[in-house]
Amino acid sequence: MPNLPLSKAEVDVLVAGLHRVATNLWWTWDQEAQEIFAELSPRGWTNLYHNAVAILREVSDYELRVRLQDRLFADRVRQVVQAFDAYLAERDTWGRERAPALRERPVAYFSAEFGFHETLPVAAGGLGILAGDHAKSASDLDVGLVGVSLFYREGYFMQAVDANNWQTEYFDRLNPANLPIEPVLNAAGQPVTGEVEIAMSRVKFTAWRVAVGRVPVYLLDTNLPDNEQTFRDLTLHVYGGDSSTRIMQEILLGIGGVRLLRAVGVQPSVFHMNEGHAAFLTLELLREKIAAGNNLTEALAQTRAECVFTTHTPVEAGHDRFTPGLMDYALHGFRSRLPAPWEEILGLGRIDPRNHSEAFCMTVLALKNSRAANAVSELHGRVSRRMWHCLYPDRPTDQVPIGHITNGVHTLGWLKGPVRRFWRRKLNGGAEEKEAAPVLRELFRLVRGQPANPWKRLLGEPDFWRRLADPAFLSDEEIWCLRYRLRREMIEFARRRLLLQHERLARGDFIRFDALLNPDALTIGFARRFATYKRAPLIFQQFENIVKLTRDRQRPVQFIFAGKAHPRDDAGKRYIQHIIHLSKYSELQGHLVFIENYDIHVARTMTSGCDVWLNTPRRPLEASGTSGMKAACNGCLNLSILDGWWREAYDGTNGFAIGEDAHVDHVEEQDRLDSANLYKVLTEQVIPCYFDRDEQGIPRKWIQRIRRAFTTIVPQFNTGRMVQEYTEKYYLTK
Ligand SMILES: *Cc1c(COP(=O)(O)O)cnc(C)c1O
Repeated sequence: MPNLPLSKAEVDVLVAGLHRVATNLWWTWDQEAQEIFAELSPRGWTNLYHNAVAILREVSDYELRVRLQDRLFADRVRQVVQAFDAYLAERDTWGRERAPALRERPVAYFSAEFGFHETLPVAAGGLGILAGDHAKSASDLDVGLVGVSLFYREGYFMQAVDANNWQTEYFDRLNPANLPIEPVLNAAGQPVTGEVEIAMSRVKFTAWRVAVGRVPVYLLDTNLPDNEQTFRDLTLHVYGGDSSTRIMQEILLGIGGVRLLRAVGVQPSVFHMNEGHAAFLTLELLREKIAAGNNLTEALAQTRAECVFTTHTPVEAGHDRFTPGLMDYALHGFRSRLPAPWEEILGLGRIDPRNHSEAFCMTVLALKNSRAANAVSELHGRVSRRMWHCLYPDRPTDQVPIGHITNGVHTLGWLKGPVRRFWRRKLNGGAEEKEAAPVLRELFRLVRGQPANPWKRLLGEPDFWRRLADPAFLSDEEIWCLRYRLRREMIEFARRRLLLQHERLARGDFIRFDALLNPDALTIGFARRFATYKRAPLIFQQFENIVKLTRDRQRPVQFIFAGKAHPRDDAGKRYIQHIIHLSKYSELQGHLVFIENYDIHVARTMTSGCDVWLNTPRRPLEASGTSGMKAACNGCLNLSILDGWWREAYDGTNGFAIGEDAHVDHVEEQDRLDSANLYKVLTEQVIPCYFDRDEQGIPRKWIQRIRRAFTTIVPQFNTGRMVQEYTEKYYLTK
């Protein structure tokens, strides 16, 4: 058949469609869309860090039109655009059926950070990633939700390790033209602006809109010529500067955020504070209600009825506290607009309202002004109830009104490309698969009962995963082959990164980067913020023993680490320094590497490419943790202290536990015990299981654990389940 040229009109439709897709983050969880952008400019895809908007700027309009004359390519583009439009147009959604009230009056979800994708690096860590995944799942479910945050034009810091192995920080300015964000405009096409009172000034802001599927997220921006430079720089960095910058950012987020929503005509039915940073929003709600004629008591009751709050950490430093002096200063202008006794307002942030010297705590403010509050895992719920019992002295600890909803991840977004392609082929696949076992035919029937993109909508179904993980559908060999492929992709990524890291230091020593790491070794990964309670170097307390494990030619083990320390956390930086030092100068050289600049892409690559995901927090300080969930959906097994989510997920068959479901309170004793237990489980369970190969060379028992991880972890620890729980327990019930 001749390849008929596409008409100009047909090409116009595809070009416009592709631009629509690029500016909606939906493409970040759609494999086919990503493959189109990557194919348009393979090198650009890598160099521009997987940025669809930038790719469409890199490729000229003329080139794009010519490239679309490739019929097959044009067909794929058409399918992606159709899939996108179908996604936006879906009617038979969970949200329409179960939460219609939120369509008219959505949830306003406030978070100081959102982590969506590596091209928009405005998250500092797990809190932001969780917020991003919350928004993506709200979109998938079609739950009415709008996000509110700040546009940090230099984002979170980039990590570069210097010649002394010391973390240094630098920033890259983001270019809005190259990002999937658009200015928020009014009906006249002018930027929507608002104003907040900060200290003695009136600070103007505008906003950007990020389209996350169906969910809009608004990012406030004070970088306007009308503002003094200090206020223009308020939205420079995520959690930038000292406590004075911090409180001002939080005033902008909470108070400015409410004003922005009013300005764009969104009337939320509930305000969800993702961590205490956003709690000043309750003061703006109070102000509105008093201005509408209510007295303070009425206004407080109405505000409480509209707000819910999620607390995210038992670590003291994670709870913002501001001195009375700083409160007076930073809220000076706002206070004059709030006709209520200031001492009473300050009392809302104090455990003892009459104690004038007590610092103002954002968590206390959020708890006092919410109708419901929750922690992020069962154990964290228990710990939080004890932690905040002081606010409810009349009740027994277990009656403190803080529940829990365990965190999750947006599964599709965290599947590595080869894994998505693997399932795509297996599920939409060729003839040979359709003739497979009855279990498969049943699976297709289950799948076919669903509309477009069927398997993607089943990712949260336990039954679906049970069938997927059935050996009649999926062989050990296929799983093992996929695992090899993912490990190799990560190792090659690591080699490239290490070469670049090395070149930056411009050192003469010669290292064969292509020989670093062994694709046949049991690869243990650890990547997260280098907060000291996460105890990154714990495994190296048994240094001599660990060296022996890496030297074992029959059963080699290797380690790959990544993570950023907070810029002012010297103890965390010393942990990084220690690990990099070991990687370069100890007997672990070649068996241990540290990848700089941990971010979403590094996280996706490592959680999919490693065999074992190590987590050694000092229990019970890991409120939930989520990276282990990313690991599980890619077939990487968890090896973790029974803290946070893992305490709930581990069942003896789906990964490995370090120690017991208990902990001692003495810190040194705990470290000693945990390190001994870690070594024990590693040598007695993990390594023997991994290297127990049958005559075909397959580690059957290991793969059985992967199957168990698929069936017991993935359908449970995802944000689809999580957002449903928030909707039913917190958003819809008063
Ligand atoms: C998932 C993720 C985190 C959070 O992981 P934890 O297990 O909670 O420590 C932090 N940073 C990045 C970049 C992530 O992708």
